[in-house]
Amino acid sequence: MFNGKEKIYLSPPHMSGNEQTYIDSAFEMNWIAPLGPNVDGFEKEVASLVGVRDALAVSSGTSAIHLALKLLDVKRGDRVFCSTLTFVASANPIIYEGAEPVFIDSEPDTWNMSPEALERALMDAAIQGVLPKAVIVVHLYGQSAKMDEILSICNKYHVPVIEDAAESLGSTYKGKASGTMGAFGVYSFNGNKIITTSGGGMLVSNDSEAIEKARFLATQAKDPAPYYQHSQAGYNYRMSNILAGIGRAQLEVLNERVNARRTIYNHYSRYLANLPGITFMSELENTHSNRWLTTLLVDKEASGISSNSLIEFLLDENIEARHVWKPLHMQPLFKGALYYSHNEKENVAEGLFEKGICLPSGSALTEEQQMRVINGILNFISC
Ligand SMILES: *Cc1c(COP(=O)(O)O)cnc(C)c1O
Repeated sequence: MFNGKEKIYLSPPHMSGNEQTYIDSAFEMNWIAPLGPNVDGFEKEVASLVGVRDALAVSSGTSAIHLALKLLDVKRGDRVFCSTLTFVASANPIIYEGAEPVFIDSEPDTWNMSPEALERALMDAAIQGVLPKAVIVVHLYGQSAKMDEILSICNKYHVPVIEDAAESLGSTYKGKASGTMGAFGVYSFNGNKIITTSGGGMLVSNDSEAIEKARFLATQAKDPAPYYQHSQAGYNYRMSNILAGIGRAQLEVLNERVNARRTIYNHYSRYLANLPGITFMSELENTHSNRWLTTLLVDKEASGISSNSLIEFLLDENIEARHVWKPLHMQPLFKGALYYSHNEKENVAEGLFEKGICLPSGSALTEEQQMRVINGILNFISC
């Protein structure tokens, strides 16, 4: 019973119209596979846009994280630290390698990795002689984590940082592009992300040698020999030349997409931010978020509604809203994993999960659709 209203999706793909040009040129050259000029072009264009030396186009953001762990020599029994408030794909590659994830809580300003919790976790690990091989820092919903603090703590313990920038392509931190501050950065072009190839990812780094090694591993680890010879296990992780063509056209409009999502955030917050018990995710000083998803917190006591009931109400209105990610340390999959809370008293991510919701934020969302969401929430709160 959707009252005949069209469905409003959370974050659907938004094509620029130029994708077909790149796909057509691949067809004209019959360069459907393997790899090819769109892949090379897409890698160069992403690298130059974010300002890194090298980039490797792969089949998903998840495979890019996996390759980063391989490059940092993560093996069975090793530890890897990871933000707890994130999508499961941030941590799954840790399990692929038989390593042990340790989850780090959020801090309240950015909802991202708490430098305090990270410092406690690293101190403990150093004392026990089990320092992690890597720290995976997520930039949630486009919001930058506190990178200066995180990098300085990690540098102190000589632990490399992987930035999971799957949600934050187009965001900046103190003038630097999200994903370019750690040893490796990872972007995703999954269908729901700010730009999409329908499915795909990118690994970026200033370490050209490492990216070359990732290219080798992602292309079945073929030894330089006149026949198929392999000395180690590789992966079939490369992006197709057709999909890279979609990515090149999407990249051309990235700035427009960021501006559109920021406008949507402003629109929602203009109407809803003053309601009692409603708080929007803020933006860290000296940073620019791509506002991939507009997210807000619903305080049950002050607003009279719960995040759960609001999501269900919107669903009845044929509007797709979602809870923020369920923290990974609360997932059955990671039962028993080590976890460091923000401080002795506060589990920040657990509170964000309880109160947080993501609103429809697709860059093609019309003002009328935004008003349907806004009026839905206003109606629900007032009744
Ligand atoms: C989407 C996402 C990924 C995974 O990217 P895929 O391209 O879907 O594999 C990883 N981390 C975060 C935080 C994501 O949102």
